[in-house]
Amino acid sequence: MIKTESYLQCVRCGKTYDIGELRYNCECGGILDVKRDLSKLDGGELKALWEKRWGMKRGIESSGVWRYRELILDAPDDKIVTRQEGNTRLYPAGSAGKWAGLSNLYFKHEGENPTGSFKDRGMTCGASAAKLFNAKTVACASTGNTSASMASYAAVSGMKSVIFIPEGKIAYGKLAQALAYGGITLQISGNFDDAMSLVQDVCRELGIYLLNSINPFRIEGQKAITFETLQQLDWEAPDWFVIPGGNLGNSSAMGKALMELHELGILSKIPKIAVIQAAGANPLYRMWTQHTPYEAVKNPETIATAIKIGNPVSWEKSLRAVKWSGGTVEQVTEQEIMDAKAKLDAAGIGAEPASCCSLAGAKKLADAGIIRPDEKVVGILTGNILKDPDAVIGYHQDQLGKLGIRGTFANRPVQIPPTLEAVRNALGC
Ligand SMILES: *Cc1c(COP(=O)(O)O)cnc(C)c1O
Ligand SMILES: [Zn+2]
Repeated sequence: MIKTESYLQCVRCGKTYDIGELRYNCECGGILDVKRDLSKLDGGELKALWEKRWGMKRGIESSGVWRYRELILDAPDDKIVTRQEGNTRLYPAGSAGKWAGLSNLYFKHEGENPTGSFKDRGMTCGASAAKLFNAKTVACASTGNTSASMASYAAVSGMKSVIFIPEGKIAYGKLAQALAYGGITLQISGNFDDAMSLVQDVCRELGIYLLNSINPFRIEGQKAITFETLQQLDWEAPDWFVIPGGNLGNSSAMGKALMELHELGILSKIPKIAVIQAAGANPLYRMWTQHTPYEAVKNPETIATAIKIGNPVSWEKSLRAVKWSGGTVEQVTEQEIMDAKAKLDAAGIGAEPASCCSLAGAKKLADAGIIRPDEKVVGILTGNILKDPDAVIGYHQDQLGKLGIRGTFANRPVQIPPTLEAVRNALGC
């Protein structure tokens, strides 16, 4: 198995387990972290090694995840399943930054991953762990992007994939990918939280390897978003990371990465983590603002289907990251999400609805004076603009009224007869 000093540790009670033990939960019900003995590693040497790998043309370490393999997963090369994921761009926000009132806003575009979302960073690590455990079949519950990613990584590595999707709307781009990559797709009558609970039973009973973000190796891979962003900033940490929150794996991962870099002495200052939830799927926001114990949201609703999750499995890890970093949790309305999306798209950058919680949340926190106008802020764009064309067209045709969303910044298509005169009129010249 995995030869390393790493081990699994429960985030709730601290109990430890061998890294080679196949489990996703502690006996107490808490979820697990992968821990490693960082005192054996030298931060300066690691940084030098990662700099040397930057721009490699091919091979495992040309991946934007495996470049940092010392902090990802100890696996022999022949077990690593990679699509050279990561290596995504970091964009200045341009006109979207002006709109948010932030002069130093950047976007890390994780929609530029091989299957169009950050899920590929977790999946390369999770699929490699599946190989280490000799899995033949992998499964996940998904609002869309996890299934698209898992089906692809299973296909490239010769594993079978089983996908549980909730009833109702799953964005077309995502469903299309899952089917195209050959995932066995089971649509259940129930929401994401029901699918999540079912897939855990299925994996236990049928001996299938579970690749949701409850899998601690997924989280390890997603840490590379933080590593790569900091490397792109020459290891000068921003003041804030603003991250959309659904199942809360990504904010957990990015926070864990910061903690590890801090322990290794690579990080001079600690960026604050702001987790942004949709107001209709906001269990972490409720806890944070009302100082109440964790409680799931019963019937989560949002147009941002990637974060339409009422009972996020990683809430403890995410809360730990927010607290450790001195950050915050914010919520945004449907209208705020879609208006932010219109501004992000019109800035020429573009992302799917859930991703735009980054911009909507950054603006809201700037308006409230929590983020100062000149602070350096990195928003995470979690998924590609093409994942959910229905949401885009609906907004720009102002047809989302039934969801209570107006096309505030709609760019409507104009229908004209095929004459020069009509074009003149349309262009006003
Ligand atoms: C999965 C996903 C999220 C939510 O991330 P979590 O780790 O579940 O909090 C947000 N946006 C997109 C596009 C996603 O695919
Ligand atoms: Zn425990």
